[in-house]
Amino acid sequence: MAAITIKNVNKTYADGFKAVKDVSLDIADGEFMILVGPSGCGKSTLLRMIVGLEDITSGDMIIGDKRVNEKAPRDRNLAMVFQNYALYPHLSVFENIAFPLRLRKAPDAEVKERVTNAAKLLELTEHLDRKPSQLSGGQRQRVAMGRAIVREADAFLFDEPLSNLDAKLRGQMRTEILRMQRRLGTTTVYVTHDQTEAMTLGDRVAVLRRGVLQQVASPRELYEHPVNLFVAGFIGSPPMNFLPAAVRGDQLELPFLTVPLTPSVRERIGDRTLLIAGIRPEYFEDASLVEDSKRDRGSVFEVPVDVTEWLGDSQYAYIPYEAPEDIQAQLRELEQELDSEHLRTQMVVSLDPMSRIRDGETA
Ligand code: ATP
Repeated sequence: MAAITIKNVNKTYADGFKAVKDVSLDIADGEFMILVGPSGCGKSTLLRMIVGLEDITSGDMIIGDKRVNEKAPRDRNLAMVFQNYALYPHLSVFENIAFPLRLRKAPDAEVKERVTNAAKLLELTEHLDRKPSQLSGGQRQRVAMGRAIVREADAFLFDEPLSNLDAKLRGQMRTEILRMQRRLGTTTVYVTHDQTEAMTLGDRVAVLRRGVLQQVASPRELYEHPVNLFVAGFIGSPPMNFLPAAVRGDQLELPFLTVPLTPSVRERIGDRTLLIAGIRPEYFEDASLVEDSKRDRGSVFEVPVDVTEWLGDSQYAYIPYEAPEDIQAQLRELEQELDSEHLRTQMVVSLDPMSRIRDGETA
């Protein structure tokens, strides 16, 4: 096992496109690190540079205590699991898992022992004689993971491994990957654009945008203290609402409401007067259910609601607003069901989230 250190790494493709810009990231030994960001942000490129499938234009890639920039992929002792699993259709599950061991001409007894152990861990024992075409998507995924396990690699690298699976299986496999990583304690780097995977799997999450690293933090830290508007808007589903806000004396004016500024928010705002306030959908509540004490901390205001969506355990209410999008509120409990006939309703918004965005909030 090994730590992975990425130091000031850049990638410029042959056509001059800069896909990764001065990224530095320390991945600890045994850590589960997620690389997340929108399509084209450079996450796969970064992963491919770690594993050696892509040249590094400048900077240092260090695995353990060795600089590996010039090392071939096979000399880095890393195991990569691809989106399409890269299984050999003509080989049995056993031989697919055994493949890296056969390559290095491991003795039969060792191959048998390692493959049997990996199969047990991944609950594939009954399927060892089958061909990949006789397996479900999830089982194929496990075979691909088995191949990574038997190599006893220093780190596992995953490139969107679950994106071909249906939602239910994706959920199951997510749990399995997490369980396996915890059991083996192997350093893992996992690329995804899926919010849920990013938030549930990672010890830490690295958010990339246009090749630039925005923030590296635990899922909770990212959610509660995003460093800029991009991270604030990217992490969280449904996404954070952004509203223009203006400081007027001791008050903050937002569309539909004016709230008193608490000392801590005041301090963070400093001498800025125009801001963008970020309010997560779940910070809205139905005002009729809110205790008086809580009302003092937030602000009750009346807003028009034009569309609602019922999801079983909560409802989304859409508050029409000109730009850039409607405001979305997620209401857990409701005195009565909101429907499109209730065009005005009272809601409470907590002031706290407005202090959450530390940077980039000047409108
Ligand atoms: P996705 O989620 O869509 O897979 P990604 O974040 O993994 O996206 P990369 O595959 O790392 O993105 O690509 C980053 C950027 O580099 C993209 O804009 C892509 O078009 C560009 N790119 C990738 N490969 C090459 C190449 N060989 N030559 C030029 N540009 C490339």
